[in-house]
Amino acid sequence: MAGKVVIGRCKTYDTDKIKNFIYKGFEEIDFKIVKSKVLLKPNLLSANPPDKAVTTHPEFIRAISEILMDYSCDVYIGDSPGFESTGKVLLHSGIMDVVKSHGLKVIPFNQKVIKKWQGISPYREFTLGENPDDYDIIINIPKLKTHAMMGLTLGVKNTFGFIPSFDKAKWHLRAGRDRMLFASLLIDIHNIVKPSLTIIDGIVGMDGDGPSGGRVRDLGFMALSRNAFMLDHAIEKMVGLPYLLPVSALASQHRLIGDYEVTHDVSSPLMGGDRGRETFSDFQLPATMNTDWNLPQLVKRILSSFFIKKPKINSHICKNCKVCIKVCPAGALSESQETLVFDYKKCIRCYCCQEMCPEGAIRVV
Ligand code: SF4
Ligand code: SF4
Repeated sequence: MAGKVVIGRCKTYDTDKIKNFIYKGFEEIDFKIVKSKVLLKPNLLSANPPDKAVTTHPEFIRAISEILMDYSCDVYIGDSPGFESTGKVLLHSGIMDVVKSHGLKVIPFNQKVIKKWQGISPYREFTLGENPDDYDIIINIPKLKTHAMMGLTLGVKNTFGFIPSFDKAKWHLRAGRDRMLFASLLIDIHNIVKPSLTIIDGIVGMDGDGPSGGRVRDLGFMALSRNAFMLDHAIEKMVGLPYLLPVSALASQHRLIGDYEVTHDVSSPLMGGDRGRETFSDFQLPATMNTDWNLPQLVKRILSSFFIKKPKINSHICKNCKVCIKVCPAGALSESQETLVFDYKKCIRCYCCQEMCPEGAIRVV
């Protein structure tokens, strides 16, 4: 049977409209859920308010939680942010209000759960911050944003949050030098977590140099699917990319994206069935995607110092908080006479520094 991706139009964070879409989406994909133990996995990258579009919007979480409560479910919410605590990010993102008002249980993803897995990456053992098997259902709730290394961060990338923050840098160091290798890691982690459902928040998203310092965009849509590979693939098509991004390219190569149909919520069709091209007409991918992502690895190694885009700090914006030094997996950033200095020979171009800079002071050029 072909899979389904359901897409609906929604211009504002109106809880009732979001709920309406999700109820209809459940019917469309025949998703039944009663009295289950459910874990919500939003994108809690870093402590930012909802209008920055860095984290999944609180009204999205409210809508999903209310639906689950209608079905008498026991609802948990968790993620492992980049470097801050889960509680802090929940508070700043506005989701903590929903946690309190709806009695959700917060899971900080700080355990050490070892999973053996033979997937498509060369890695066979993964340490997760929470055991996905402890839940009947996991609902993956990404935010639609660009990502310097992967192009976009959508459903498959969102489950990388199961890696506890103290281990993320290690994985970047092991796999971050090669985008396809990193994509294979993301796919394996996603398949271990195996969410039952992915619902993407694309009402307000981010383009340009995301996932934290890009341009906030009113995209006005949401989408859901049982299968995040299909959902990601459908969104890449909507964006109108002439090529598949690393995760979808690799998933396609390994036949993880089967046949699927895209259904538009009939009460709010997305641009009259044209797959949202108008919505995404001037959607900008990160600067890193323009030239280098699909070069052969050997070429990239040889040319890296000349060709592959480098992170650079805008000293007028930098507040010298040193988060970038803390998160750099390669030890490529240091402080010299109160100025931050990159060692580009050590730098693996993972762009974690740009991703986590709270001031948006790092650009990739
Ligand atoms: S994380 Fe950003 S603001 Fe903080 S020191 Fe680095 S560049 Fe400056
Ligand atoms: S300097 Fe930035 S891009 Fe380079 S390795 Fe460190 S975190 Fe990654």
